[in-house]
Amino acid sequence: MKTLLSVLFITVLSINVSASDIKLTDAEQHYLKVKPEITMCVDPDWEPFEVIDKNGDHVGIAADLIQLAAKRAGLNIKLIRTTTWEETLKLSKSKKCDILSFVNQTPEREKWLIFTQPLLTDPNILITREEHPFVADLNGLDRESIVLPSGTAMLERFSKDFPNLKMIPVVSEADAMEMVSEKKADMTVRSLIVAAYVIKKEGWFNLKISGQPQGYENHLRIGVVKEEPILRDILDKGISTITPIEREAIINKHTGLVVNEGVDKQTILKYLAFLLLIALFFMWLYFELKRYNNKLRELSITDKLTGLYNRLKIDEKLKEEYNRVIRYENYQCSIMMIDIDFFKSINDTFGHQKGDEILKNLSELMKKNFRNTDSIGRLGGEEFIIILPNTTIEEAYTSAEKLRISVQENLVTSTNAVTISIGIGTFLANETVDELLCRIDAALYDAKNQGRNRVCLA
Ligand code: GH3
Ligand code: MG
Ligand code: MG
Repeated sequence: MKTLLSVLFITVLSINVSASDIKLTDAEQHYLKVKPEITMCVDPDWEPFEVIDKNGDHVGIAADLIQLAAKRAGLNIKLIRTTTWEETLKLSKSKKCDILSFVNQTPEREKWLIFTQPLLTDPNILITREEHPFVADLNGLDRESIVLPSGTAMLERFSKDFPNLKMIPVVSEADAMEMVSEKKADMTVRSLIVAAYVIKKEGWFNLKISGQPQGYENHLRIGVVKEEPILRDILDKGISTITPIEREAIINKHTGLVVNEGVDKQTILKYLAFLLLIALFFMWLYFELKRYNNKLRELSITDKLTGLYNRLKIDEKLKEEYNRVIRYENYQCSIMMIDIDFFKSINDTFGHQKGDEILKNLSELMKKNFRNTDSIGRLGGEEFIIILPNTTIEEAYTSAEKLRISVQENLVTSTNAVTISIGIGTFLANETVDELLCRIDAALYDAKNQGRNRVCLA
């Protein structure tokens, strides 16, 4: 927007002054007649002052200032395209172009050029890396290296004025800045406008302005071949019409950068925090789902009333043990089936709730009496099963007796002791799970028939 306003501003101002407002001498008017077109060489790569863009057009601060001055003076300028500053200088020296667009006046250049009044005055500043101290006086530095583009007025002057510095000539201004940024040189000198523009554009944020040597301002003028003093006078008349406000507007138009400055630290932190939140949310979701699935799984294998394994899980465990018995020759696994005696009458006498309480208490007693490796399940009603891996029938019998006595001693209604009957058995070779359960069931039936509150072997 600012740039657009600058362009409009320049346009409005430009139409207020015309060639007829400039007083040209007869000789000057004659010159314009016989020379309808003058040729111009420029620096093809000196942003934001001037560049030859990809369309081959001369654009930038110098281009606009020269166009403004030339238009008002009634001059037509033809651009001679070059690709490097060296090539430009060469063409200028060999008089292939009448004017050299935007240069400092130096003794070297005075050999073949005469100069207009400045189109623009811009201070030169010292650029160093951030850690370099402020430079009040360049004479006070000892053998520090200063990198400058070759063929420039500053290289010419600095070489002469500061023998205490080590000069490093390079091809372009960009190379100079890069060498300082990458610690290959201590400092460079650059126009304030160019430095501000380029540091921002290239993102050389480890560079800073460390000083402003006095008397090294860039008085940027148009260089005119010595043979054409009338052309210089005409150009001067055009330049004198440019007001400070117009100059400012042109500078603003070309330094109002729209660059991708990268993402600042705060934005990165915001994004990281946001990503962290998302990651945390998914982690929470993952653990919640895992917890939920674990709960579901637990529910699917647990008897609700007693918290013991249900039939589903018991069948799974029985299968596992069956496979072990088949695989390992001397492996033994014993099974216990437990049934509460006269449970129906307990229910009938004391109520279903008391019955439930007894079922739960029995479950707790069983958990206390058996190992973690044993699997205790409820087959249904008041019938339970205990799988005893790696256990002989004798060991199982001892455990069963212990449980039976423990129940008899600990599980009571208000009037009677509660007792259990137990059938036990061990996997036999080539016996299926169902066949084993059948045998144990029969042993349990025997225990009932023999008067209950006892353990019978299958
Ligand atoms: P026996 O000594 O021959 O085993 O006699 P019993 O009365 O224990 O056996 P029966 O099979 O005749 O009765 C079992 C009773 O268990 C019948 C039923 O009401 C009761 N029962 C089954 N499931 C539950 C339960 O979840 N809670 C309660 N309170 N009672 C149950
Ligand atoms: Mg029963
Ligand atoms: Mg029973």
